[in-house]
Amino acid sequence: MTDNTVYLNGAYLPIEQASVSVMDRGFLFGDSVYEVIPVFGRNLLRLDQHLQRLKNSLTLASMQAPMSDAEWKQLFKTLLEKNPGEDRAIYLQVTRGVYPKRDLAIKPEHKATVFAMVIHVTPVPMAVLEKGLRTVTVDDFRWHACNIKSTSLIANVMLRQQASEAEVSDAILVRTGGEVTEGTASNVFIVRGGVIVTPPTSRHLLPGITRDLVLELAEQNAMPHEVRPVSLEELENADEIWLTGSIREIAPVLELNGKAVADGRPGPVWRKMIAIYQQHKQTLRNAGT
Ligand code: PLP
Repeated sequence: MTDNTVYLNGAYLPIEQASVSVMDRGFLFGDSVYEVIPVFGRNLLRLDQHLQRLKNSLTLASMQAPMSDAEWKQLFKTLLEKNPGEDRAIYLQVTRGVYPKRDLAIKPEHKATVFAMVIHVTPVPMAVLEKGLRTVTVDDFRWHACNIKSTSLIANVMLRQQASEAEVSDAILVRTGGEVTEGTASNVFIVRGGVIVTPPTSRHLLPGITRDLVLELAEQNAMPHEVRPVSLEELENADEIWLTGSIREIAPVLELNGKAVADGRPGPVWRKMIAIYQQHKQTLRNAGT
């Protein structure tokens, strides 16, 4: 569900009144980038890291940043005040704007389209989280710029559909050659012999903010962890598999390609990590600004 007041190109207005031109390059080409930033109470989780990733996406896509960090922060503050609540997330999208002609060539003189809205997030109860996810592996046929958080998500949509057709909740993506990359909208972790492992950032996956947070929490809590390539064979033989993302947080995968992951129940390393993560969130909720 989305709250009513949204931001579009300088104005705060009811969502029904927010519209963009059919000539917007976000609409025509998916020529746009986005961010999803969780909000606990009044605190935005890892705001600076999200803004940094936004800048990276814009730079990689040869787009100018339409606002400074201070201006983004002011926009988010105002938008949150206009849409009060507890657990929410900000969705922000920047497109290359509206050109008079449908033309792939970039013309920097045109202004970006900036859109932001507040999304309601219902915290997933532990009992539901513990039920875990059933997944399949699918061929990661996406492009070589998955480190850009782009709204050109047709490949992710098609890959998620493969999961739906297999009657499971998500797919884990594997490049030709057996390199495990990420989920359709999440990063992937495995646990083997007590060690938490996630693939390194590259053009084949999105540098997830939750991924970095999980790695940081592992470091702070002396939980053994490694960043290195993960093969399909390792995934299939993992003691635990997790999918991480800003909204999903840290979800245990209990089934892969029709087989149980270990004993088919959430593992002890996940239990420890999710407790640490929830504690971190609670600290933010209590912090106030
Ligand atoms: N990978 C992909 C393809 C995603 O779409 C997402 C989030 O939407 C992630 C990873 C996780 O990123 P984050 O933790 O910043 O939400």
